Amino acid sequence: MQQLEKFAVTKDNSKGRIYAEPEAEYRDLFQRDRDRIIHSTAFRRLEYKTQVFVNHEGDLFRTRLTHTLEVAQIARSVSSALNLNENLSEAIALAHDLGHTPFGHAGQGALNRCMSENGGFEHNLQSIRVVDILEERYAEHPGLNLCFETREGILKHCSKKNACELGDLGKRFLEKKQPSLEAQLTNIADEIAYNNHDIDDGFRAGMLDIESLKETELFGMHYLEVCKVHKNLKKRVLIYEVIRRMINTLVLDLIHETKKNIKILSPQNIKDIRNHNEPLVAQSFELKKQSNELKKFLRINLYEHKRVKEMTTKAEHIIASLFMSFLENHQLMPHDYCKKAQENENNMEKTRVVADYIAGMTDRFAFSCYENLSNIK
Ligand code: MG
Repeated sequence: MQQLEKFAVTKDNSKGRIYAEPEAEYRDLFQRDRDRIIHSTAFRRLEYKTQVFVNHEGDLFRTRLTHTLEVAQIARSVSSALNLNENLSEAIALAHDLGHTPFGHAGQGALNRCMSENGGFEHNLQSIRVVDILEERYAEHPGLNLCFETREGILKHCSKKNACELGDLGKRFLEKKQPSLEAQLTNIADEIAYNNHDIDDGFRAGMLDIESLKETELFGMHYLEVCKVHKNLKKRVLIYEVIRRMINTLVLDLIHETKKNIKILSPQNIKDIRNHNEPLVAQSFELKKQSNELKKFLRINLYEHKRVKEMTTKAEHIIASLFMSFLENHQLMPHDYCKKAQENENNMEKTRVVADYIAGMTDRFAFSCYENLSNIK
């Protein structure tokens, strides 16, 4: 078995689970966490949730599930190269998007507006709610009872107000401390994954073109490299060759830069990692700059593209009308949710039940709910 660094997360330095459990015979803590996540209901729903494109637009686009698997692949590679806990990185990656609403960021924005007077809605925090409370699979406890380190990695960011309510888990946001290296690297693996696959999906949808993408340094550099080696490639293969190289460059840079930072700090244990004033997992200045340029390009040319915007407007309308309908009439929700909403006197709690129900929906389920409600009206 691979020898882990002394500052990696292990079962000996783990802060453990909320509810104590006997150890498993063959699997370590984080293999178990990973398995629990894979078997969860929220994980299965990722297949029918949007990343950028709505799920029914085409079979070839990324969904949250395929995105999640790509993040897990990158996170495991980086984790293993740095002799860190690969199982933990994988578990965090697989759970990182569990709290996403239907219709991607459009859905989250809409739900956040609906909840503005009742604590707001944030997908990161919702992912924690899913694994801590909403998944109902165990007789002994609510949620999946994941280890602290897995939950810490899922909670990438958090407002001070919310951090205060999260106890131990929120502490680092108040004390400005760092999560484990496994969590830090999974966060960047997420970025590497979506920037690159959004290019691929954007091409496929005919919203991006090589001519303008070539102007960005990161894409342009690798594009020239591919053209030098291969003449007359089919456009699709050419794009894959460029993306493959970009991911490789970004991943290698991340590994090298992080190794450098580790060498300078020379951490002796995980406390040194947590107490450091900034993350040790980082991209080089140059690659960070190039990634930011690419992100900006994607924002302007893809995320704000007319077709994506149209979809966004539709999604916002659907989420807002579902929210209003369920709030006015709890009985339109399934029995469990209806009962929970009716039992709660407090308006804040009632709206949270509605938000939980909507957030758990897949794109297509939200669509059909909306259609049914429109027919009733
Ligand atoms: Mg993600």
